[in-house]
Amino acid sequence: MIISKGDYTKLKESRVLGRYVVNEQIISFLNKMAATFKVETEGHSVLNRPIKSITIGKGTNKILMWSQMHGNESTTTKAVLDLINLLDSNTDFAKGVLEHCTIKILPILNPDGAYAYTRVNANEVDLNRDAQIRSQPESKVLRAVYDRFKPDFCFNLHDQRSIYNVGTTSKSATVSFLAPAHDAERSISKERVKAMQLIVAMNETLQELIPGQIGRYDDAFNANCVGDTFQMLNTPTILFEAGHAQGDYDREKTREYIFYAMVKVLDTIAKDASNAYDHHVYFQIPENAKSFFDILIKNVPLPNSSGRKDVGILYREVLDGETISFIPNIEKDGNLDGFFGHETYDCLNSKDTFYLRNSDLRDLLAI
Ligand SMILES: [Zn+2]
Repeated sequence: MIISKGDYTKLKESRVLGRYVVNEQIISFLNKMAATFKVETEGHSVLNRPIKSITIGKGTNKILMWSQMHGNESTTTKAVLDLINLLDSNTDFAKGVLEHCTIKILPILNPDGAYAYTRVNANEVDLNRDAQIRSQPESKVLRAVYDRFKPDFCFNLHDQRSIYNVGTTSKSATVSFLAPAHDAERSISKERVKAMQLIVAMNETLQELIPGQIGRYDDAFNANCVGDTFQMLNTPTILFEAGHAQGDYDREKTREYIFYAMVKVLDTIAKDASNAYDHHVYFQIPENAKSFFDILIKNVPLPNSSGRKDVGILYREVLDGETISFIPNIEKDGNLDGFFGHETYDCLNSKDTFYLRNSDLRDLLAI
């Protein structure tokens, strides 16, 4: 690994933790960086919050990345702060990247959604379905930055829900990638090959850390999605999706995995080494499926009957002050064979039944 776990611990921006990440935290972080790197306000959100950017390095490979286009998807934002700390260090890695790359980062594209902890912006529009008409100020800001900066690579940074597993396995899709399609035929342009090669490079690094926990997103074409649009404009574009790791609802572990993936991709671009990776390997990364519940409870006794059913529970993420509460909610019940749980209980097992009767799931299960 290019950066060790020990070095990561020192670089981690530990003032920004958990799922609720808002503009104030980003602005105070960027203000500290303004002495070294260029910090700008690129425009404003619906509710007039500034959309900030930072530009790092002076190399010829231009990379544009934006995070929290969906306001409640903050894991990649945290990883990006850690990455900026690394680029601000005097390491050989940082020197190499700064010499060969110019990186522009918008840590929070949707500051109103971040504040309200919603996917959508303040007009309740999903910005990742607004790439063509650009009805929203945030969409206009991103496109203006793209047109002015003229990136050679784009990184579209998101979180995915805890429902995703890798292929047909019981492994959580902790990190997923997509090289978006640029046409309905999903044809493979040389720019898309470049995006695939970079994903293969990151996959290689991540497989050492979280074997079998890397998934590939479905590449159905949708021109309203930002990644598809930039790929149509012949810019190699990568969708990053930060997902669930065991027990990590604050997504601090996944933040670290995304950081290592970003270090690898920047190293590959800075060294112009993407051709060392065979793009066909991209298709060997299994596609994601939606087979996880946060809690799966098997064989729950039905009231007034001898029958039993399985219950699949997902957490609702609810903003509570400045933290996120995870409220269990029954998503599906019946026979849930073939599904997995990040936590699994079986009411035919007396120890599990004892736990469930005494836990906060008791009312939900009516047992
Ligand atoms: Zn998203």
